[in-house]
Amino acid sequence: MENTPTPKPGNKRRFNFYWIYIILTIILFALYFSGKDSTPKEDIDMGQLIEMLQNGEISKIELLNKESADIYLNEKGLRKRFPDVKANSKGESSSPNYSYQIGSLERFEEKVEQVQLESDIKNPVYITNIQRRSWVNEFLIGWLPLIAIIIFWIILMRSMGRGAMGGGGQIFNIGKSKAQLFDKDNVPVNVTFKDVAGLEEAKVEIMEIVDFLKNPEKYTKLGGKIPKGVLLVGPPGTGKTLLAKSVAGEANVPFFSISGSDFVEMFVGVGASRVRDLFKNAKEKSPCIIFIDEIDAIGRARGKNPINGGNDERESTLNQLLTEMDGFGTNSGVIVLAATNRADILDKALMRAGRFDRQIYVELPDLIGRKEIFEVHMRNLKLGPDVDREFLAKQTPGFSGADIANVCNEAALMAARKGKESIDRQDFMDAIDRIIGGLEKKNKIITADEKKVIAFHEAGHATTSWLLQYAHPLVKVTIVPRGKSLGAAWYLPEERQITTKEQLYHEMIATMGGRAAEQVVFGQISTGALSDLEKVTKQAYAMVTYYGLDEEIGNVSFYDSTGQQDFSITKPFSEKTAEIIDKEVSKLVEKAYQEALNILNTHKEGLTELAEKLVEKEVIFGEDLEHIFGKRPWNNNDNNTESHEG
Ligand code: ADP
Ligand code: ZN
Repeated sequence: MENTPTPKPGNKRRFNFYWIYIILTIILFALYFSGKDSTPKEDIDMGQLIEMLQNGEISKIELLNKESADIYLNEKGLRKRFPDVKANSKGESSSPNYSYQIGSLERFEEKVEQVQLESDIKNPVYITNIQRRSWVNEFLIGWLPLIAIIIFWIILMRSMGRGAMGGGGQIFNIGKSKAQLFDKDNVPVNVTFKDVAGLEEAKVEIMEIVDFLKNPEKYTKLGGKIPKGVLLVGPPGTGKTLLAKSVAGEANVPFFSISGSDFVEMFVGVGASRVRDLFKNAKEKSPCIIFIDEIDAIGRARGKNPINGGNDERESTLNQLLTEMDGFGTNSGVIVLAATNRADILDKALMRAGRFDRQIYVELPDLIGRKEIFEVHMRNLKLGPDVDREFLAKQTPGFSGADIANVCNEAALMAARKGKESIDRQDFMDAIDRIIGGLEKKNKIITADEKKVIAFHEAGHATTSWLLQYAHPLVKVTIVPRGKSLGAAWYLPEERQITTKEQLYHEMIATMGGRAAEQVVFGQISTGALSDLEKVTKQAYAMVTYYGLDEEIGNVSFYDSTGQQDFSITKPFSEKTAEIIDKEVSKLVEKAYQEALNILNTHKEGLTELAEKLVEKEVIFGEDLEHIFGKRPWNNNDNNTESHEG
């Protein structure tokens, strides 16, 4: 953190500009007057010149830059034409008396000579050629364009200085970052953790960043490095921006907000220059937060676009971002938060240590989360007595925080349209209907029936794994959609170096538990078990062909650790073996499925109780299972969880 107070850049800049203006003006005037001749010269034509030459009134003719001739009269000429002017010691005028504009130099010289010859002058006048610098001309030709450019540039810089943060639209600002700055002087960040409902886990992690920003010494004192980048991953509208803003609000530091797509412009090099500018601005305001929304717009894996052969501009923007993140010191107090809903497509280089090495998952809210979000957004609403947040939360599975904020606003508008004094339950219900209508096209909306199926499916996984000795014990089950999956269960995997056949088999049963539960309860199965089946099938093939765990195939392994064989072309076994493998795999999977059916049939009551609890709460934990099925007689205790989706 920088402790030296930085002078206000705005003032300093203006001060400099005024000086430049004043100096320029002085120079201009000085040049103008110094260049100007003090005595006025009268222009004459050829006839007058010839007359003076014939009369012998001229002392000398000076050619000035081969453009004009300065004519100096001698004593005779002066007496006749300028009686007031005294001749100098050489008997001539000390300054030119007349000026003649020359058309053609040769013709002029010829003419002067000829006239003098003809009139038989004793002391003929010779033409001297001098290069006198006319400062005015020189200045106008040589310097004016440059000065014009400088003035133009100054005006440009000034207007940039003024609109550096928010000003867009000007072509000159194209390389400037379009980041919107929120700070105490401009737009204060007035979002704090209070405004972010739910997201408890994300908040805990992000709290640490607030602490970094508030007390950097606490961490740097011990030699720790403050993280540079944190990636917020989650579906749209789940409050990633809100969370990032709340960090700035809590830590009371400036907040630069920009979208990844703002870096991308038609012109090559603009993105990179915007990144540079953004980091430059941020460093000036350190400690501060840079928030890059939709970072996937620039952070997509490089060189993976076979159609147009990659996007050079995007890649150079990404490279610049990586360079900047590497460049600023870990203790500079600039933390980059970025949001995406596609962490999987991001370039791996972004995730490397010293860049976005932390990831925080921001999921769609569960029942409790939704209730809290309703509470946050109802704070400023005039509610009728019949509004029940819990009920509304139940009506909105699959809604994001943004959707709920939308529901609240829509309900208020509906009540206002009807001229009501307060917003009642029916307004909210109508608003939900309307939002669902809009959402169904783009989002995953779960109907009540679907929710029940998903709950039983997940309860099936949970029940089987709880009741099988070697399956991983369950930690948490949710039916909140996340990513592509509709529900998820988290297990505590044991730390195993070798896995027995029994253990693999029990895991397969637990994986089949989802589909088996659908069969047991509803008598029909669904497509919802795709990833389960995929997992089980792969597992079974591995057991048979790699680990030598099948009796028919025996102790052979077709595993190729060198990775050089391409099994899709040549198989290391005969057609007959292939058939046996397929048969054994399907036998194994079927056996696991039957076993899952058995378990669930015998524990149908427990399964139903669990599923109902899941429908109600959307998230359940190991304790709930313990409550229903009793403690597991086997204790496998371990530390890291593994999630299972689908
Ligand atoms: P994202 O950046 O994830 O797409 P935003 O942070 O922009 O989503 O959320 C949009 C709006 O939705 C927020 O301004 C806020 O009103 C509302 N919102 C989203 N999540 C929450 C939440 N957890 N608590 C309160 N409001 C939320
Ligand atoms: Zn499943």
